[in-house]
Amino acid sequence: MSRNEGEAGTLAERLEHVRARMAAAAKEAGALARPCELIAVSKTFGEAEILPALEAGQRIFGENRVQEAKAKWPALKVRHPDIKLHLIGPLQSNKTKEAVELFDAIHTIDRPKIAQTVAAEMAKQGKRLELFVEVNTGEEPQKAGVMPADAPAFVAMCREELKLPIAGLMCIPPVDEEAAVHFAFLAKLARELALPGLSMGMSGDYETAVQFGATYVRVGSAIFGGR
Ligand SMILES: *Cc1c(COP(=O)(O)O)cnc(C)c1O
Repeated sequence: MSRNEGEAGTLAERLEHVRARMAAAAKEAGALARPCELIAVSKTFGEAEILPALEAGQRIFGENRVQEAKAKWPALKVRHPDIKLHLIGPLQSNKTKEAVELFDAIHTIDRPKIAQTVAAEMAKQGKRLELFVEVNTGEEPQKAGVMPADAPAFVAMCREELKLPIAGLMCIPPVDEEAAVHFAFLAKLARELALPGLSMGMSGDYETAVQFGATYVRVGSAIFGGR
């Protein structure tokens, strides 16, 4: 029995609803919007919730812990080799090997040590992941991510010294602030750094993110229910 049974509609209906709202937001934004993919954030949920999402055609999933993802996804990937897994939570350097083995993308490159270990592991495994630099746009002391002022030098170091294929920038706006301000800021910073990718927007603000040019939104509870 699925954990989210009390939520409105079936999982497939909620997924369809999110996709429809993304499309409507893109249409409203016109040229500002970019082709945007939906990452279904399945952290804390198991096969009972993930299987209906797969049946509904969803193939891109987000997890925030390497160990949890390792327990859940290898078996599902055997059945659906086209699944793409995105690590959206903080990465510790001692988990880098497993992360590079399991994931197709990492959204939380935020310090030289992690950039270096990811670069070394990708070379070793002969694997190229899609990488995002996390920016602490709210400059919150407790939050991960490079400070905005440090982002240009950090991105340059990743690209030039480590030859890392940085796809774009990622942010998690402060909970008590207008997300749009942070999305606009991240989009501007990405433009200045000639980075095409923008990972931004969660269940509460993914439509806004789409309107500011997100190329990935990371949506959990609006699809899977409350955690
Ligand atoms: C959990 C999480 C999400 C999804 O959050 P919801 O509000 O459930 O959509 C998105 N991004 C990150 C980094 C997360 O940890």
